[in-house]
Amino acid sequence: MTVSHPDYPYSFNPDACKTCSGRCCNGESGNIWVNRKEIGAIARVLSMDTDPFIQTYLRKSGYRFTIKELKSKDNYACVFFDEDRNGCVIYEARPEQCRTFPFWPYFKEHPEEAAAECPGVQCE
Ligand code: SF4
Ligand code: SF4
Repeated sequence: MTVSHPDYPYSFNPDACKTCSGRCCNGESGNIWVNRKEIGAIARVLSMDTDPFIQTYLRKSGYRFTIKELKSKDNYACVFFDEDRNGCVIYEARPEQCRTFPFWPYFKEHPEEAAAECPGVQCE
């Protein structure tokens, strides 16, 4: 079922995720922000205490935390992207930034960039 949002000039078809290689989880390097509440939720899903979770999986950028990425050739993948399953290993606790993709405020004014990044985006 296609998802639309009244403030956005495009809709999103989640069926595209089945044949997409997780382009929102890997590709160019970027920040995957997590707040304190999200950090706690992800650590719980992984059955880890918060401090070791932060040390193992997060990177500090300014005063915020972002999920680490793994680099291979020219590709950067979120550490929680499982290439074999083509999915997110912390899916139920994925951060807000991931939950709201591709409806990010920046894309509201740049729908063509959303479409270039995500094959599920259907511009009007
Ligand atoms: S880039 Fe779009 S189509 Fe591909 S996995 Fe992410 S949300 Fe789904
Ligand atoms: S946390 Fe999950 S949904 Fe978000 S970028 Fe990483 S693998 Fe993708």
